[in-house]
Amino acid sequence: ESNLDGKYTFENFIEGDCNSLARNAAKAVSDNPNNTAFNPLVIHGPVGLGKTHLLKAVGNRITEKFPHKSVLYVTTDQFTNQLVTSIGSNTTNELVNWYQNVDVLLVDDIQQLIKRKKTQDVFFNLFNVLRQHNKAIVMTCDRPIIELDIEERLRSRFQWGLTADLSAPALETRMAILASKANANEVLIAPPVMEFICYHIQNNIRQLEGVLNNLVLHSGVNNGKQIDLELARQVLKNFVTEINREVTPEVIQRTVAEYYNLDVEKLASATRRRHVVLARQISMFLVKQFTDESLKAIGRLFGGRDHSTVLYSIKTVRDLIETNDEIKNDLADLERRIRAGQG
Ligand code: ADP
Ligand code: MG
Repeated sequence: ESNLDGKYTFENFIEGDCNSLARNAAKAVSDNPNNTAFNPLVIHGPVGLGKTHLLKAVGNRITEKFPHKSVLYVTTDQFTNQLVTSIGSNTTNELVNWYQNVDVLLVDDIQQLIKRKKTQDVFFNLFNVLRQHNKAIVMTCDRPIIELDIEERLRSRFQWGLTADLSAPALETRMAILASKANANEVLIAPPVMEFICYHIQNNIRQLEGVLNNLVLHSGVNNGKQIDLELARQVLKNFVTEINREVTPEVIQRTVAEYYNLDVEKLASATRRRHVVLARQISMFLVKQFTDESLKAIGRLFGGRDHSTVLYSIKTVRDLIETNDEIKNDLADLERRIRAGQG
């Protein structure tokens, strides 16, 4: 049983500067599994950036393109466990034979070889046999091979082929990944909300998926399948502790006043001139989004208005975002500026 998960493919792996080398290398191996120049391929990088995804994509693509080839995916822990079991039942030879007969061996998380002397020995021999026969070996590791504390003879062999690293994706790449996963889940996330989420989840795509799963769960109850900024903010609180730490109502008021070319005092004044009222409502909306101030406290910040006025303002802005593209863009700009002003 190959243990491959069909949902991991090259098609649903979003390319970015952070992963294009690894992705192209993985693709090259898939298209030409017998090319010794790529053997072994080691993909390394921190947790949650797509190592397992790429590894399984290789397996899925080879299975599709070369149906006669036997492809085996295994984690290093699973391999160790199989070895331990086989030692207990005197069947290590059978296990080794079986592994020697695969055409493509995909080994996930080889950092789990550390301190496992016996596994390293068996794997060393297996590696040599497979490579002699031009059988493709692809491995992943959470650190560069040079930093992997294993037997030298094994480490040097791991460096014979190709190594490619995965690094943290840029904001745009994170947004593209989130958009693609949202689409797969049939939920709609407006670009400003997407940017807000991706701004806060920077180093781990699995975490980004966790946020999305939570959003999907909650969106069903609240809001059809639309995900608004408020919901995103609530969900994100469970993932990042420092969300919006530095954003204060004053920062928001200053940013909005500057954006609309107003004196900041106007926001708290009694003026009912249209563009001031709009700027005031937008400020209230943003204070609610970005801070933990209560409606009552927000009312006080804007010249002692009562909480129902604040609530009405927030609702007005929320409606405007849905119906007025100019306001929607203003808000995206403002959010960006407010976040950029953070710490
Ligand atoms: P790792 O093995 O490096 O810890 P995974 O391969 O398990 O990370 O990736 C974590 C999750 O993030 C997976 O669900 C994977 O599909 C997703 N993922 C990571 N990078 C990308 C990408 N570039 N495009 C689409 N999904 C990605
Ligand atoms: Mg993994």
